[in-house]
Amino acid sequence: MIPAPFDYARPATLDEALGLLAKHGDDAKLLAGGHSLLPAMKLRLAQPKMVIDIGRLPDLRFIRREDGRFAIGALTTHYDLESSAELKESCPLLPEVAASIGDVQVRNRGTIGGSLVHADPAADWPAAILALDAEMEIAGPQGRRTVKAADFFVDILQTAVGPGEILTAIRVPQTSARVAYEKFAQKASGFAICGVAVAEGRIGITGVAAKAYLAPSADRVVEGVDVMGDIHASAEFRAHLAGVLTRRALERASKRA
Ligand SMILES: Cc1cc2nc3c(=O)[nH]c(=O)nc-3n(C[C@H](O)[C@H](O)[C@H](O)COP(=O)(O)OP(=O)(O)OC[C@H]3O[C@@H](n4cnc5c(N)ncnc54)[C@H](O)[C@@H]3O)c2cc1C
Repeated sequence: MIPAPFDYARPATLDEALGLLAKHGDDAKLLAGGHSLLPAMKLRLAQPKMVIDIGRLPDLRFIRREDGRFAIGALTTHYDLESSAELKESCPLLPEVAASIGDVQVRNRGTIGGSLVHADPAADWPAAILALDAEMEIAGPQGRRTVKAADFFVDILQTAVGPGEILTAIRVPQTSARVAYEKFAQKASGFAICGVAVAEGRIGITGVAAKAYLAPSADRVVEGVDVMGDIHASAEFRAHLAGVLTRRALERASKRA
């Protein structure tokens, strides 16, 4: 459980971090909260030669209102989101999802940006980000670009964030009504065997396929989806869960309207 040797840099600014990424290319990995990268390094599934620690960049950790929406910095922790009074009032889906992640230690260190870029098929945030129709801001050598949540998740552990780029912020609408998150969790870790987030009738589903997705409707939640089966749940059981949790989430969301 000891990582392969690596060099370590702690840039003071986003530009410095982008410069280090450009310099070290495929040899480098960004470190945010470390709760996905460090276990992967200890198991030697990831062996970066250079770890670029962006975890303490102050400009990427914020929750603020912006043009009728919320802008959330990529380094905002799960706990920041869980405990935000403003979000509880005006975008309660995010605190609800955050509170369901792992345990206190994971929520204190793990970041929403790290989770989204890591794109674990069982992660909770992707379902909510899809249901909220969020926009993702990505910085790179050519400047900043915006990607819709529906185009962000590409495949298992793959997103629209390219080499040399950093996810900087997530923008979500202020949506206090008709939202809910229902999850059937893996008991040891809390990861979603199936998680369903609903917002304004949109249904985001995680845990079921290689990447999180938007279901076309409540009665077609696994249509066209290659449902995963593994040691935690068969494909048949996951498909069943997707239907049940969607119904529960929609019922709870309708009571909140
Ligand atoms: C015991 C345990 C239980 C957990 N339970 C859950 C759970 O129930 N639900 C859940 O959803 N998750 C769970 N997690 C995962 C947790 O939420 C992680 O915090 C999260 O997946 C990664 O966030 P991080 O900030 O720790 O990222 P890191 O581990 O630092 O980074 C993850 C990956 O993203 C890249 N990266 C990080 N930030 C950026 C950025 N801004 N731009 C570009 N690339 C970036 C890194 O290079 C790395 O490849 C659990 C983890 C553990 C250890």
